Amino acid sequence: MRAADPAWHDSRWRSAIRRGLLKWFAANARELPWRSDPTPYHVWVSEIMLQQTQVATVIDYFRRFTAAYPTIADLAAADEQQLMRLWEGLGYYRRARSLHAAAKLIVERHDGRFPDDYEAVLALPGIGRYTAGAILSISGDQRLPVLEGNTVRVFSRWGGFRGDVATTAAKATLWEIATAMLPQRGAGRFNQAAMELGALVCKPKAPSCDRCPVSAFCHAHRLGLEDEIPGRVTRITYSSRIEFGFVVPIIGQDRYLVCRVPTGERWAGLWDFPRWTAGDTDSSAIAAERLSEQLGSEVRPVSALTTIRHAVTRYRITLEVHRAAAIAADSVKLPADNYRLLSRDQLGELPLSVTGRKIARLLDETSAGET
Ligand code: SF4
Repeated sequence: MRAADPAWHDSRWRSAIRRGLLKWFAANARELPWRSDPTPYHVWVSEIMLQQTQVATVIDYFRRFTAAYPTIADLAAADEQQLMRLWEGLGYYRRARSLHAAAKLIVERHDGRFPDDYEAVLALPGIGRYTAGAILSISGDQRLPVLEGNTVRVFSRWGGFRGDVATTAAKATLWEIATAMLPQRGAGRFNQAAMELGALVCKPKAPSCDRCPVSAFCHAHRLGLEDEIPGRVTRITYSSRIEFGFVVPIIGQDRYLVCRVPTGERWAGLWDFPRWTAGDTDSSAIAAERLSEQLGSEVRPVSALTTIRHAVTRYRITLEVHRAAAIAADSVKLPADNYRLLSRDQLGELPLSVTGRKIARLLDETSAGET
């Protein structure tokens, strides 16, 4: 190796890191439900759930999901509403729809068996380079790299790579490091170990270098640059907005109006209490008026029910929820597929948006308090 060569060009350095890392992983790997039986299906479901979601949250969802759909064929045949109900609370619902669509394709094109060809896996909906590499390396030990939040940080620090990891050039370098680091055999184990080190030891803030198995070889640590590497990741700038939700009872019945969230909107395919999301007014009366035009039925707020604050993508949203005056059951002019009039019990069976579920629970509590 020449003096100016980056660390990852040095095979002895790579071997030393691998040895330290794998020994540490053998003693410290967490027991996770998808690790005990790492079939392609299990790894696939877990990797999709783990995108944007913490391990601790995913564990129960994974167990319930694989109990409901033990095979790819079961998932392909799933009822979409039941699937969304199982996914409810995990967020990023496009992931669930992609899993469903991909399962159907696997049944059609691959006889229900998860393909072991990299290009065929990449051709499935919702699966990119990272996920394909994770599935095939972990379940079939194919020599494929993985690059996600944890490994971007770990590889950057090991190699003392200071580039801005958001750039295309930096990403290319990181894929090169990820590939160079792979052992000839046991790539899946190596990938899991590198991700685990990032999750447990080499954390974004204040990494635990004093108990790191590879600190002697880590360039960021040697140079005291742990806090500066990886280079700046663009932060999301949030903007605030007010939205309005309305609990609309049906005259003479213990039922409420809920609407299906249209395609292209946040929480598309889930159900929600009528909600004005345009963020173009801070008046509940104006929001109710505009919503009335959409529904073809008058929404008239009568009292404030609650305020829910939450963040979605780049918005910090304040949702003002109002009770509205009761309407006649036949007054809604939406197409029949897009709305339902449901009792509180029936709301429990339908996949609702995060805030829709909060409102439904509030209705239960309020009604329990009244009895
Ligand atoms: S020594 Fe510190 S910065 Fe380097 S890999 Fe270990 S925990 Fe991360």
